[in-house]
Amino acid sequence: MDIDPILSGLNAAQRTAVTSPSSILQVLAPPGSGKTKTLTARVAYLLSSQHGFRPQDVICCTFTIKASREMRERLAHLIGDRVVSKLVLGTFHSICRRYLVAYGHLIGLKKGFGIADSNDSLAIIKRIVKRLNLNIQPNPARSRISGQKAQGISWKDLDDARHPKGVEQQEFIQVYREYEAALASSNLLDYDDLLLRCVDLLRQHPHCVSNVQTVLVDEFQDTNVIQYELMNLFAAQNRRITIVGDPDQSIYGFRSAEIKNLERMQRRYPNTSVVLLEDNYRSSGSILGSAEQVIEQDTARPAKKLHPTHGVGTMPVLRKLPTAAAEAQWMVTEIKRCITLTGQLLKPSDFAILLRSAALSRQIESELGKQGIPYRMVGGSRFFDRVEIRLLLDYLRVISHPENNDALARIINVPTRKIGDETLKSLTAGAESAKIALWAFIKDVVQGRRSCQKNLSKAASIGLSVLVGLIEAARQKLYDCMDESSPRILLEFVISKLGFREYLTATYPLDEENRWANVEELLAQAGDSSTSYFQQDDLLPEIEGLEQQQGHIGEEALSRFLANVALSTEVTTEEGDQPQEKVTISTIHAAKGLEWPVVFVAAVYEGVIPHSRAEDSDEERRLLYVAMTRAQALLYLSLPRRDSKNGEETRTSSFLPPSIVEAKFRAVGPKFVDKTIFAIADILGREHPSQEAIVKGLQAGLPSNNDDLWTHDGEYTGDTATRWDGSKASSALDGRGQALENRA
Ligand code: ATP
Ligand code: MG
Repeated sequence: MDIDPILSGLNAAQRTAVTSPSSILQVLAPPGSGKTKTLTARVAYLLSSQHGFRPQDVICCTFTIKASREMRERLAHLIGDRVVSKLVLGTFHSICRRYLVAYGHLIGLKKGFGIADSNDSLAIIKRIVKRLNLNIQPNPARSRISGQKAQGISWKDLDDARHPKGVEQQEFIQVYREYEAALASSNLLDYDDLLLRCVDLLRQHPHCVSNVQTVLVDEFQDTNVIQYELMNLFAAQNRRITIVGDPDQSIYGFRSAEIKNLERMQRRYPNTSVVLLEDNYRSSGSILGSAEQVIEQDTARPAKKLHPTHGVGTMPVLRKLPTAAAEAQWMVTEIKRCITLTGQLLKPSDFAILLRSAALSRQIESELGKQGIPYRMVGGSRFFDRVEIRLLLDYLRVISHPENNDALARIINVPTRKIGDETLKSLTAGAESAKIALWAFIKDVVQGRRSCQKNLSKAASIGLSVLVGLIEAARQKLYDCMDESSPRILLEFVISKLGFREYLTATYPLDEENRWANVEELLAQAGDSSTSYFQQDDLLPEIEGLEQQQGHIGEEALSRFLANVALSTEVTTEEGDQPQEKVTISTIHAAKGLEWPVVFVAAVYEGVIPHSRAEDSDEERRLLYVAMTRAQALLYLSLPRRDSKNGEETRTSSFLPPSIVEAKFRAVGPKFVDKTIFAIADILGREHPSQEAIVKGLQAGLPSNNDDLWTHDGEYTGDTATRWDGSKASSALDGRGQALENRA
């Protein structure tokens, strides 16, 4: 394989990293400096004839499913689809799942385990708290359990610890213990288990990864202790590791990520080489400068300079609006205006609205809806959480895996089968005392082999046998299906057997159409094998002396589909149709590693950024830094004057530097709009729009008042920056004809 295409388009430092002969390599660099690009090129380089690693012997860990898809696409251009499909490339969670499916039986995992997503985990904990009548809050308990697991601390460790335990701690240990028992009885693994059990597997059976030649990790600064350990275990045989990361972008400390892993790695592998990248290829000079002023306030960090490769561009804009609703309206209007004024240089998918928390999105979503701009939500409330979708998925989960007690309990009476809460309680109690799964108990009851404490009504008995019949028929269908089409086939089967469309019409008469559209979307996803991020589970290497479990193709395709649904909760959800037409709304956390031509960061006020309950204010600052450095050409920051929750006056985030807060902004006159547009095009590497397109845009979209179209403080005279000519401002903005004349 020719390595020229791999190295072309990289700068000297990037090439050094890509071709580095060091077996342990850290690439540390600020945002937008091409770390991910470098990592991708290094994968291709290691697979090239120079090194000749086989793709199935290379493990590459990305932070989100979206990132792994993007990397797959980029690599496909360099080395071809066939090779890429064999790589072990994905998030830590999905890679672990893959190993557990293949080799989990070696550590006693039952075949066909399901994955509990965060909703499932919460539901289980709520039930435990209720059953045991405890005072503990379910949501914090869940994060705490996850935190303990991420550090490898089991409930037994806590129970054994010699410290005296208060009531609160005792309750927590009890919930933790019961939670683990509930997962085990439903044959479910939660997110943390996927990692932990894989650590167990690889410690006990290092052979499973003895083929691995090299391991690469993106966004290393956000790995937790377990992920770090996994990386070492993956690489145990050949000790070849490449990581890329940026300590300044560490934002997952609240989920037990440890920046310290960087130093840990250097201590563990004394032969670690470090390559620094300094040039920034993403953002305009002014965006980079402002972001730098934010991160510089962290005095504990070593000083670093960010070198822009683009011109100064347009200054970031800070805007205060009276209310959150007005803020949403302003953002959406501004998006529309940017699209019109740039003569279609920008399209909706070039815009992202980044939020501290998904809870803030409601007004923005409704405003986008009102103004007819399509959008997609990332990292927030998800497509898969909608009631109708969740219900169908629960059916699929029970079909794939009937021991899933929670999913079964949720579908048992939906649509109604006259099985009331009391009946369900009695069935659950019966199953628990017989120490078998709810499904097995119900089947026994239906077949008259066991009886339920509460006498079942006639209607309930019939309801139960109908359900059992449905699930059994579906399982037979699954068994008969010998290819990847099982998710769609079963979904269609369930929809028709339940009369699901009629059920929706009857239950949601006002909203039936929307909900049905969602169902159709789910069908499309179930039928699209490209949404199964791992088509290649069967490609894990066969290892001598180890028996890899060979699954049934239809069953495995369904279980993989459900796993992808569960794992995508953590990160992003693409809703099928073309993303290129949509504005993105995302949490800042989920925007990691990504970039957009225009970025809005909303609600930048004290209490939100930094968050009022945040423990680590440095991490809060880094969060704002990550948000700002997603922007390529235009950056807007905004806040409402009043907090919509308590009506109190807000204070602008103290993280914002004076250069942004105190800047006097005025709109750029039309005379300079073309220069601004050209500067944007240059940063994005796009063609300049024609004069006609710009004139047309101006006619349609000139700001009517002194508003925020590429505002400018007038002092700035960078190379490609637009220059503000104050004396002409009012006349230029007053009369459109006059403005166009000036341009000529
Ligand atoms: P982050 O820290 O945000 O994850 P990163 O360091 O991973 O950022 P990349 O996403 O790899 O940065 O690159 C940022 C942008 O810069 C991408 O659009 C990439 O294509 C571009 N880029 C990187 N290196 C070069 C280069 N040598 N020449 C031109 N463009 C480059
Ligand atoms: Mg990156």
